[in-house]
Amino acid sequence: MVNIGDVPLGGTSPIRIQSMTNTNTLDTKTTVEQCIRIINSGADYVRLATQGRKEAENLVNIKKELREKGYHTPLIADVHFNPDIAEIAAGIVEKVRINPGNFVDRGKTLSEKEYSDDDYRAGLDKIHKRLTPLLNICKDYGTAIRIGVNHGSLSDRILSRYGNTPEGMVESAMEFLNVCTDENFHDVVFSMKSGNTLVMVQAYRLLVNRMFKKGLVYPIHLGVTEAGGGDDGRIKSAVGIGSLLADGIGDTIRVSLTEKPEFEIPVAKKLIGYFSGRSDHPEIKEVPGILINPFRYQRRKTNPVRNIGGVNVPVVVADLSEEKFISGSLLSDLGYQYNLQEYNWKISDQATDYIYPGNLKSGLIVPGRLGIILDFDAWRSYHNQKTNLFPLFSLSEYIRSDIRSEQLKFLKIDYPSLNSEIFDFLKMDKKTVLVLQTRNKNGIAEQRALISKLMDKNLPVPVIIQRDYTKNDLEDMQLSSASDLGALLLDGLGDGIWIRNKGPITCREIISTGFGILQASRVRTTKVEYISCPSCGRTLFDLLETTAKIREATYHLKGLKIGIMGCIVNGPGEMADADYGYVGSGKGKITLYRKQEIIKRNIPSKDAVNELVNLIRESGDWFDP
Ligand code: SF4
Repeated sequence: MVNIGDVPLGGTSPIRIQSMTNTNTLDTKTTVEQCIRIINSGADYVRLATQGRKEAENLVNIKKELREKGYHTPLIADVHFNPDIAEIAAGIVEKVRINPGNFVDRGKTLSEKEYSDDDYRAGLDKIHKRLTPLLNICKDYGTAIRIGVNHGSLSDRILSRYGNTPEGMVESAMEFLNVCTDENFHDVVFSMKSGNTLVMVQAYRLLVNRMFKKGLVYPIHLGVTEAGGGDDGRIKSAVGIGSLLADGIGDTIRVSLTEKPEFEIPVAKKLIGYFSGRSDHPEIKEVPGILINPFRYQRRKTNPVRNIGGVNVPVVVADLSEEKFISGSLLSDLGYQYNLQEYNWKISDQATDYIYPGNLKSGLIVPGRLGIILDFDAWRSYHNQKTNLFPLFSLSEYIRSDIRSEQLKFLKIDYPSLNSEIFDFLKMDKKTVLVLQTRNKNGIAEQRALISKLMDKNLPVPVIIQRDYTKNDLEDMQLSSASDLGALLLDGLGDGIWIRNKGPITCREIISTGFGILQASRVRTTKVEYISCPSCGRTLFDLLETTAKIREATYHLKGLKIGIMGCIVNGPGEMADADYGYVGSGKGKITLYRKQEIIKRNIPSKDAVNELVNLIRESGDWFDP
């Protein structure tokens, strides 16, 4: 446990929530007002951008005003580059965040400099020398430190030896931790953030594993960087943070949204709430042997059946069992529109792959590509009428039935009902896809155990992960389903998803959530990915407004990743993954990037969105909507 002011972190403390201001830290009044809004929303800590000496010194005034107004929430200074600034802040606030990627070492320059063993050792000595005075100040003032590693800003030295990998991130943190333990300083918290959920989850797991092996347990701060805003930001945050909370990792979280900081707090609360109260879940029988590598992504190998499993991207199933009939407008919600002039179907990028009406409903004219899943009894009556009808069996129907045909069929199953008889059937029948259900409070663990059992039995049967919710609120459904499904998809498990909700959420919203989860888990891309920073005191333009303009101009360029970063200090590193970058480089000035290369510098911001479009055009990635 680490004391941060009088709000302890880790140990038996509840999972703490935090956010970060996006005001100018020199503007005491505005910053204090925003801190109060964040605190009143329920934050346990507030972080402030502390980019320079003046900002660090002004933390005194901000803290004083907050305390005078009766707000005693611990404050955290966000420092990246300069040990001197961290030392000033450490004498004022309760915690200081430093980034090992650029705190002492020079940050990423892509110089590809070779580091000899001597150079490398010299780098470590330098860290020791520069970090120790900060630790001494922290000891004197009772200030904690977060060693906050970012995937996008590892140092040249680390990159030269480990590459831009989760292993490099962990190494970067451990180098700083070694200095802390050498100096007998233990008020340390860690984070391993990335905008890439896969990298982020692996890095956190690797770090925790590495610490366990050394007998160390320091608190962990979870976050997905540059998650964006709106539905996408919530889904991506839940995929990354939820997957780790499900592993039991995480003592404090920050959900970074490109929105007002106080809006992050309810989302964080819901995520934490979703994972609480599970410890008394019904027992899940352990599958001996670790068959899924938690540190390296590998998609589980499965037999392809129609367009499910094998090398196919995971499919999306829409549950229409509550619909009275399948209308044209419902089909259009599912991504299919019939063009009366051209006599053909227009199919969107986010077109559902399968629908489950349960029984055959009137008016069901659908394109051949769309699979229709019917309950076994209904399928028996109608299967001669169409080629794209597929049966869904219960376990007893499956065992009783003599249909072991060459045709795709679905079998509903949960972990407690698995038995050796089923394994024998599945060995013979290469055309079955399992629909995994769960009623366990810890459904992620139960569904993971079921798939592990299939792997243990060497059964490459594809699986569709089905989850049931009773949510009235879209955000609740997004956060729950993204956590549940993302956790398995990031482990390479799942050939499809099937989200069901009893409540007022529309079919289109459920489907769109499903595609969002697949994209955030990096297993199926159906839209542009906007990697936008949450903004902070360093931000040089109106991020919300600019993000909206860029979205409007580029929403149709499926598969592109566009970074929208408030400042050039951290932006280019944070959007390491992006194909194009729009980065604030001065007041009213934007610099445009293609991958990590600067293409146009300091363009007036009024022209910058058009210039970005021109750049995408010149680079051959543009097509008209
Ligand atoms: S990229 Fe710059 S402006 Fe955006 S949150 Fe990071 S430091 Fe702040």
